[in-house]
Amino acid sequence: MAMPSRVLTEPRELIIEAVAPAEPALKIGWIAAAVDQVADTRAKLRRLAAALAEDADLLTSGRPEVPRLIELLIRELQPHELTRITPPRCVRWDRPGKLARVVDGRRMCQACAASTVGKPRLSCAVCGKTLEVSGRDRDGPPAASSTGPSPKTRSPRWPAS
Ligand SMILES: [Zn+2]
Repeated sequence: MAMPSRVLTEPRELIIEAVAPAEPALKIGWIAAAVDQVADTRAKLRRLAAALAEDADLLTSGRPEVPRLIELLIRELQPHELTRITPPRCVRWDRPGKLARVVDGRRMCQACAASTVGKPRLSCAVCGKTLEVSGRDRDGPPAASSTGPSPKTRSPRWPAS
């Protein structure tokens, strides 16, 4: 349940309250330690709390869209033998692993990221074709080479190999 005011005033408590019921075997002290390890600033605590207030299933879904801070929190908790909470899986191979990169808002493991450096191949958000991505805002959708707004002036972010 979203409680925006507590996201601002009690983000740490809100995070612990979201994690505890997701994995009842975890002791509160373990959760608190993991939260403190991952979110060492008020801003991070609030981002984490806001994400969990919006969708507590992020802890258990394993979806590649899971935000980085939540992935880090889950990894801090992993030594405690989790049964329900699960880290996000790589968007390409559906394997768990450290997800080093974000591609199109979804997380990707190191091996897949390495294979796409220079020429990431994704479905273009504009034309739907899977092509080399020619450019993309930091948080925006990918755009295929053929569908950019100004093909004559745009320079590719990743050089062709
Ligand atoms: Zn991968």
